[in-house]
Amino acid sequence: MNIILLGPPGAGKGTQAQRLVVEQGMTQLSTGDMLRAARTSGTEMGKQVAAVMDRGDLVTDEIVIGLIAEQLDHDNSGGFIFDGFPRTLKQADALAELLEAKGQSLDSVIEMSVDDDALVARITGRYTCGNCGAVYHDTTKKPAVENTCDECDSKDKFKRRADDNEESLRTRLMAYYKDTSPLIGYYYAKKKLKRVDGLGEIEDVAGAIKMALNL
Ligand code: AMP
Repeated sequence: MNIILLGPPGAGKGTQAQRLVVEQGMTQLSTGDMLRAARTSGTEMGKQVAAVMDRGDLVTDEIVIGLIAEQLDHDNSGGFIFDGFPRTLKQADALAELLEAKGQSLDSVIEMSVDDDALVARITGRYTCGNCGAVYHDTTKKPAVENTCDECDSKDKFKRRADDNEESLRTRLMAYYKDTSPLIGYYYAKKKLKRVDGLGEIEDVAGAIKMALNL
C-alpha cells in the first residue's frame, strides 16, 4: 500500500509516518528529511536549497521529484508513505507517472486537518533528538529527564529546525495554502482522499488514520 500524508506544516505528518513505519513496516519518504540530510552532508544541492528552506519557501519541483525518483528504486514490500511530498500539482503528476512506471499506484491520501493557531503553537515549541529523531515539545511533551532523550538516552543532543520560527512558519503556511492545498481537490477527484482530524492526541490521530486505511 502506498499512501500520502497531506497537511500543513505541524499537522503531525512526520509523527504519524514514524508510527506507520514501526507498526506496519512501511517506508517513510520525507522530502524535508532528504533535503535536511543534503544540507548536513554539505552537497552542492544542499547548499543550493538551504536559504530557500530557512525562509520557508518551496524548493524547486525538479529537485524534489529527483529525490523521490531515486528512492522509488528501493525495496517497497511494506509500501511507501510520502510525507511532505507532493506539495504542488506538478509533483503530484510526476509521482503518478513514477509509480506507474514501476507498475505501482497510489492507494490513499490522508489529509490531516489542523487549524492555524494550533499549528503555530505546535511548531514554535517543537524540537527533536539529534540522535534518533524522537519529537518533543516545550509544553506538551518534555523528556522525562531534562536534556535526555526518552527513546535513546542521548544527552544534550536536542535540536530545533532553523525554519521552526514564526516568520518562516507564516511563509510555509502561505506556500501550503497557495501551492499544496489544490492537491486536496486533485485527490478528491481521483477518489483517493480521506480526511482525518489532526488536532487530537497522537494516539487518537493514529487510530483515525488506521481506520481510514482499513488497517
Ligand atoms: P518539511 O520537513 O516537510 O516541513 O519540509 C521542510 C522544507 O523543505 C519546506 O519548507 C521546503 O522548503 C522544503 N521541502 C520539503 N518537501 C518539499 C517539496 N515536496 N516541495 C518543495 N519543497 C519541499
